[in-house]
Amino acid sequence: MARQVTTDEGVGRLASLIRDARSVVALTGAGISVPSGIPDFRTPGKGLWEKVDPMKVAHIDAFHADTREFWRFYRPRFSELGEKRPNRAHTALAELEAAGRLDAVITQNIDRLHTKAGSERVIEVHGSIATSSCTSCSASYPLEGVGELFDADGIATCVCCTGKVKPDVVLFGELLPEAAMTEAQALCAKADLLLCVGSSLEVYPVGGLPEVTLASGGQIAIVTQGPTSYDGEAAVRLDGDVVTELERLVEAL
Ligand code: ZN
Repeated sequence: MARQVTTDEGVGRLASLIRDARSVVALTGAGISVPSGIPDFRTPGKGLWEKVDPMKVAHIDAFHADTREFWRFYRPRFSELGEKRPNRAHTALAELEAAGRLDAVITQNIDRLHTKAGSERVIEVHGSIATSSCTSCSASYPLEGVGELFDADGIATCVCCTGKVKPDVVLFGELLPEAAMTEAQALCAKADLLLCVGSSLEVYPVGGLPEVTLASGGQIAIVTQGPTSYDGEAAVRLDGDVVTELERLVEAL
């Protein structure tokens, strides 16, 4: 069992692992966006998710069964997400990449905040709000253009074929994008260090990525509040606030 440290010792050890690694990859989850005002929907009773069961409204069957209701819920949520700003934890990862110390960010988040923070190589394994696509002809629409697609019933409709337009985020009941998962697995296999930030690492198949790094002889470090499935295998385990811990890490490098 790795010791849970929030002291300089833990940050110093993480900095030293990063300095010694040839390839460092970050894996981020909802916890990194909480300081930007985006609640982790798995935390009950928070914000927009208070009155709904995400497993129901965010399910592909719900989209097809009642597209109007789906968009009634998602339309305001997407415009709200589109206005959120990255926080200093996102910025810290962008700085690590710019300094040549981080190869890529693999994220479960759909909020685009890593890209907004300046990260160049971002693999969005759950898709993102950046685009929506027609479920019939695959025509793609940028976030800014989706507002013009709504018909009188409040359903986003394709201008090419009048098919239903769906956000390019992975809903429950859908497979993860294959190309993104393949790239994520290759990065994790090559990484000497997988830096997991703000994720409980419980949601599969993304939750299996640390196993890929470990099986290839790499190490994992975990920066998140609360327990994760990999606490016993982490070379470094930091349990503090993600912004504070990553800022101290950047300083320590
Ligand atoms: Zn279409």
